[in-house]
Amino acid sequence: MSDLDGIIAELTRCKSFLLSVHISPDGDALGSQLALMLALRKLNKAVTAHNLDPVPEIYRFLPHAETIKTGRPVTGRYDAYVVLDSEPPRTGLFEKTYPADTLINIDHHVTNPSEWRHTWLDPAASATGEMVYRLIQRLGVPVDRDIALCLFTSIFTDTGSFRYTNTTPESMRISAALLEAGANPWLVTENVYESYAYQRVKLLGSVLSGMERSADGKIAWIVVTEELYQQTGATSEDTDNFVNFARSVKGVEVAVLFRQTAASEYKISLRSKGRVDLSALAQSLGGGGHKNAAGSTINGTLEDVKKRVLGEIEGAISAFQGSRGDTDHGRRP
Ligand code: AMP
Ligand code: MN
Ligand code: MN
Repeated sequence: MSDLDGIIAELTRCKSFLLSVHISPDGDALGSQLALMLALRKLNKAVTAHNLDPVPEIYRFLPHAETIKTGRPVTGRYDAYVVLDSEPPRTGLFEKTYPADTLINIDHHVTNPSEWRHTWLDPAASATGEMVYRLIQRLGVPVDRDIALCLFTSIFTDTGSFRYTNTTPESMRISAALLEAGANPWLVTENVYESYAYQRVKLLGSVLSGMERSADGKIAWIVVTEELYQQTGATSEDTDNFVNFARSVKGVEVAVLFRQTAASEYKISLRSKGRVDLSALAQSLGGGGHKNAAGSTINGTLEDVKKRVLGEIEGAISAFQGSRGDTDHGRRP
């Protein structure tokens, strides 16, 4: 159900807003959030941005990133709660329901159940930032340099720097408009891809030296344990995109990163080259995502979690081998 008109009406009617995104926020989540915050402020709205997790170091260059509140509880009352790039429960901010009738959800994850009060879901959008761009146009707010930088970051990061199949003529046209409005692509590249913590690259070295693959070479996986964080001094935010190295191996169809998040809890990042659909697979593991990039968090020992996840992937690979399989060359990371 796509309720863009209803969302425009609510954004116009309401005066105070809380904007939130998913746990472990990424470039799309933060770019969308800050751009919408800036646009609504131009309409004289009172806007607070609040996420569970802090802004990763590499995204702190985004304008006003330092004003985003973090942790629980959320204080204050707002006319409307807007959740971007995530289904509302994945913000991790509220136990059960949001404390308002006006819950607005703007997202491009195909696995979003779309059951929220006002939902605009567009799985064809390259990034939630692309949707926010269209929204801002509809609201009649001019895209200034700060908004442009935020939205360019959204699209640039979620398309893997315009490499994945979610790179469409539309996402390129919008990106061109964002460059015209003053977004500086090198500023984004330098901060997001050329400013890694030294510890991150050391951690990557250890993690890659432990990479394994299945006998047929179609599945490759890497593991980040708490012990490795201690050894290298790196943190969980340093593992962003590690899984792409495992996918980059020739012959690999599906890559997995098992990242320890507690004694018996692992966050799973899944990446496909396009023949195996991961969104349904991730959903069956209690998570969600896109066709070629999805994730979940699973409880259990590393051995148990590995067995379960690799078993599911083997099943999905046999299923695609049974059919002809498509050759959609890798939507999203
Ligand atoms: P990640 O591996 O964390 O980069 O996530 C890959 C994609 O799957 C991103 O678009 C995430 O937003 C999405 N994703 C990851 N974990 C979950 C989850 N538990 N529920 C829904 N979507 C997820
Ligand atoms: Mn995201
Ligand atoms: Mn996204």
